[in-house]
Amino acid sequence: MSVTHTLEADVLRRQDPQLADILHGELDRQSTTLQLIAAENFTSPAVLAALGSPLANKYAEGYPGNRYHGGCEMVDVAERLAVERAKDLFGAEHANVQSHSGSSAVLAAYAALLRPGDTVLALGLPYGGHLTHGSPANFSGRWFDFVPYGVDAETGLIDHDQVRTLARTHRPKAIVCGSIAYPRHIDHAFFREVADEVGAYLIADAAHPIGLVAGGAAPSPVPFADIVCATTHKVLRGPRGGMLLCGSDLAERVDRAVFPFTQGGAQMHTVAAKAVAFGEAATPAFAAYVHQVVANARTLAAGLAAQGLVVTTGGTDTHLITADPSPLGVDGRTARLRLAAAGVVLDSCALPHGDVRGLRLGTAAVTTQGMGEEEMVRVAALIARVLRGEGESHTAREEVRELAGGFPPYPR
Ligand SMILES: *Cc1c(COP(=O)(O)O)cnc(C)c1O
Repeated sequence: MSVTHTLEADVLRRQDPQLADILHGELDRQSTTLQLIAAENFTSPAVLAALGSPLANKYAEGYPGNRYHGGCEMVDVAERLAVERAKDLFGAEHANVQSHSGSSAVLAAYAALLRPGDTVLALGLPYGGHLTHGSPANFSGRWFDFVPYGVDAETGLIDHDQVRTLARTHRPKAIVCGSIAYPRHIDHAFFREVADEVGAYLIADAAHPIGLVAGGAAPSPVPFADIVCATTHKVLRGPRGGMLLCGSDLAERVDRAVFPFTQGGAQMHTVAAKAVAFGEAATPAFAAYVHQVVANARTLAAGLAAQGLVVTTGGTDTHLITADPSPLGVDGRTARLRLAAAGVVLDSCALPHGDVRGLRLGTAAVTTQGMGEEEMVRVAALIARVLRGEGESHTAREEVRELAGGFPPYPR
């Protein structure tokens, strides 16, 4: 049963055509534009089936075997399966799969290890830190004393000397490594060493690379961090949600930090969909997928650089690229809008060297569609043409439609 079939032919169309049209319109948008948002992907029909299942009806506060509600026989099995699969996939002693989102997982990690007012060292927001890494607009910046470290303005690489110096000066209770925009592998051993030197916990916020880790295309933070926080919906290709991994020593604190401290009932349809995604991520096909994601990102980065954009750190180790389009005569914000008009969907982002905004893009979604390096070369050229304002914008839109049409994300 294809997704289109689900959307078009079922009860929703008969009962609520207005909503059915919206869902169909979104499927159409996703299928006819290029999804280069680094945090997005296409989940499998199996993951979507779990999400749209009657598990959505079930209340399940607590943990398997210890619930506040009756009737949890089946969802207990689903959650145990998700936990076991996550532990196996990442080689972790403990997994909590209930976090509603990546941000909820970070909140739970802080709740497990910190008290309000504690000092935390994290990558500053202008350099790719997430909102939960100390933004004044977020609980993290309000409740904790964040000290930001940065990246080298020239190389774009994390300034390890600065991390060590700041850790020695401020003696943080925790150090956070992880980013929304860092294109290179993170040196977890280095962060572990600094954390040990100053007696800090190490929290790895691996929301972006955790899918690469699952398929063996990025180094794992699990052996190094006290707690690993992650999302399940980025490269990992599961449902929208979060999870936490830790050693047995912190298992109980992490579980209590998720429920009852920061959340109520678990979303069992999502937990089941996470189990499906972990099962998919354990296959050789997924390992091949994530390696292709990285190969595609490298080719796309090289293509953009050849077209004159300045690619941060000169390339990428991951699915993620940030680049300064200003040599082509546009800033990141204008570039994003111009590309959106052509059907190329991506984000603008802060760049290490400050004032100008850049572009952030990723290859997880287009690789799921089956695009390869040949298509990435074409995409780089297309992006550059749009940014230079060459040709009619509807010509670019047509080319995107044609390219995307060759790689439908779901069976039609
Ligand atoms: C995506 C992301 C998050 C937040 O995930 P949400 O599900 O949007 O809450 C947190 N930290 C990092 C580093 C991320 O990339």
